[in-house]
Amino acid sequence: MNAPVLVINCGSSSIKYALIDADPQAPRLAGLAERLGSSDARLKGKDSAGESFTQPLPNADHADALNAILQRLEGRVPGAVGHRIVHGGEHFTQAALIDDSVIEAIETTAALAPLHNPTNLAGIAATRKVFPDLPQVAVFDTAFHQTLPPRAYRYALPEALYTEHGIRRYGFHGTSHAFVSQRAGELSSRGAGGWLTAHLGNGCSTSAVWNNQSLDTSMGLTPLEGLVMGTRSGDVDPGLHAHLHRQLGWSLDEIDNVLNKQSGLLGLSGLTNDMREVEDQAMAGHPGAKLALDVFCYRIAKSLAALSCALPKLDGVIFTGGIGENSPIVRREVLALLPHFGFSLDEAANEATIRGKEGKLDSAGHQGPEVWVIPTDEEGRIAMETRHCVETPE
Ligand code: ADP
Repeated sequence: MNAPVLVINCGSSSIKYALIDADPQAPRLAGLAERLGSSDARLKGKDSAGESFTQPLPNADHADALNAILQRLEGRVPGAVGHRIVHGGEHFTQAALIDDSVIEAIETTAALAPLHNPTNLAGIAATRKVFPDLPQVAVFDTAFHQTLPPRAYRYALPEALYTEHGIRRYGFHGTSHAFVSQRAGELSSRGAGGWLTAHLGNGCSTSAVWNNQSLDTSMGLTPLEGLVMGTRSGDVDPGLHAHLHRQLGWSLDEIDNVLNKQSGLLGLSGLTNDMREVEDQAMAGHPGAKLALDVFCYRIAKSLAALSCALPKLDGVIFTGGIGENSPIVRREVLALLPHFGFSLDEAANEATIRGKEGKLDSAGHQGPEVWVIPTDEEGRIAMETRHCVETPE
């Protein structure tokens, strides 16, 4: 298929889009329709000359926004649409060409992602209306982690909770972990091998990847498990919920809200969920920001050390996501907590590898496991999987 792929990521009031050519050098058209359903709904993006635009779309719904996006594709006609879908449960181990049975299976999985899957489905329905003749493909955040062995995906809970209710670890950010580990395998002389990946953005997760297969990951049934994130707590004692309920009388919704929206960097610093500001304030001596940075880095190091148990051998660690790609401080602090792994960081390379640069951060002549920064490209990976799915349907 030579035509470009339109990648769509539908939220409850937003649609992120990118038009991606098979040729990686070809310019991408990308943008975001936001505040949909409100009077100040708008479409923001960049054209192929790199010029930014903002177009008001008062009271636009998802279908209106898709029609406006269509007008912004500069006459380039997509050959397929690739949808980012948050949860594929155990049903989807790879991308799937969307038909009624696939939609039904995504609906069945909605119980596992009640906030996201219904929104993604609404996006598919609107896109099918606007582009009735295009093949549509669902690409799942969870699919890459379907290779986890039972010892990594099962919780130590009564079996019926797994067999009857699907309660297990699924993992997320799959397209990102898949993209950066594959890219490291191409760039490094070590090949596919054993890689620890750290996707550090607003959401954060780690993964252990062996020969391009995920063997363990830090997120679980939901994206709340694992690392400290912008506003999410990551791991807490599972007894915390009962404690907060019994001692403070908090409802489940209140507990859920605190753990997802008021914790993480924001909760610890008392200031912000934005790592740039946390770093600035920590440098200026703010105790909460210093603690937030400290806990954030320690928990990443602890998670990487734990996930190394999943790998037969360790070839290196890969940092990605807004923080992983741009924060020499976080990379340095995390690696300093793993001295027994034999990494050797070149400080100058660490400082210089920011703003979308790709590179190896090792000291010259270093023989131990490598350290890489690889800017993630989740949309590029979704386009690639969409193309593959359309060209070679099961
Ligand atoms: P999302 O997960 O929403 O896609 P990103 O991957 O863009 O988010 O990551 C956002 C995070 O990256 C924010 O915490 C932001 O502060 C952080 N970030 C971006 N640039 C820098 C920087 N120069 N230094 C430190 N953190 C940065």
